[in-house]
Amino acid sequence: MLEVRGLAAAYGPVRALHGVDLHVERGSITAVLGVNGAGKTTLLRVISGLLPPKAGSVVLGGRDVTRRAPEDLVRLGMAHVPEGRGVIVELTVEENLRLGGLWRRDRGWLKTGTARMFELFPPLAERRHQRAEALSGGERQMLAIGRALMSRPELLLLDEPSLGLAPRTTARIIATLRALREQTGLTLLLVEQNAATALSVADRAVVLNLGRKVADDDATRLAADDRVRRAYLEG
Ligand code: ATP
Repeated sequence: MLEVRGLAAAYGPVRALHGVDLHVERGSITAVLGVNGAGKTTLLRVISGLLPPKAGSVVLGGRDVTRRAPEDLVRLGMAHVPEGRGVIVELTVEENLRLGGLWRRDRGWLKTGTARMFELFPPLAERRHQRAEALSGGERQMLAIGRALMSRPELLLLDEPSLGLAPRTTARIIATLRALREQTGLTLLLVEQNAATALSVADRAVVLNLGRKVADDDATRLAADDRVRRAYLEG
């Protein structure tokens, strides 16, 4: 589904990624782990076209999409839920969802898709006519994910969905995403600082440290690897 090779990125003089490779199987859940500043968010931003890479390539479903604009990538089946959620607080829940579906030519989807998101995330249905500013942190995360899903992606990039949420809320959101993967074959690339949460749901995981990939393995094997945990995940 996604093949990243030798990706390098920088913010002015600050080098944030140094030649990162990543292979994401279709229908899998892959976690990107690492402490603060490891380069996780930067990796997602380069993959989704928000930040042009200094070197390397991004191949989506066999097509080279390096340096393509974010809106092109949405059309090609990629959606990105940024850190800090990115919902538009002045708009209602329903309006936020519809915005996410505007890329689709199929107008009927706006209606069926919104209904589908309310099934997936029932707390949103109760608040459909309220402005997003009235939502709790967990509900905002649900809305951000729902909005991304409205573009009917094949690959969903999620940046720190557990940030600031109660463990129970995070568990609920993750269970929904897993169910969706079973039903639709959605591929997930999940950035998390909370390694335990991510490793409990992921099939594979990679660990970044100072912009380099330092581990890449089965999630269960990585979870059992004390050396990696002590060196790169407890910071
Ligand atoms: P976090 O969990 O804090 O988001 P991260 O692993 O996602 O951490 P990045 O945000 O990708 O890490 O940051 C990687 C490096 O790039 C860090 O050294 C960070 O300070 C730097 N960096 C990130 N964003 C910017 C920016 N807008 N301008 C300058 N440097 C930045």
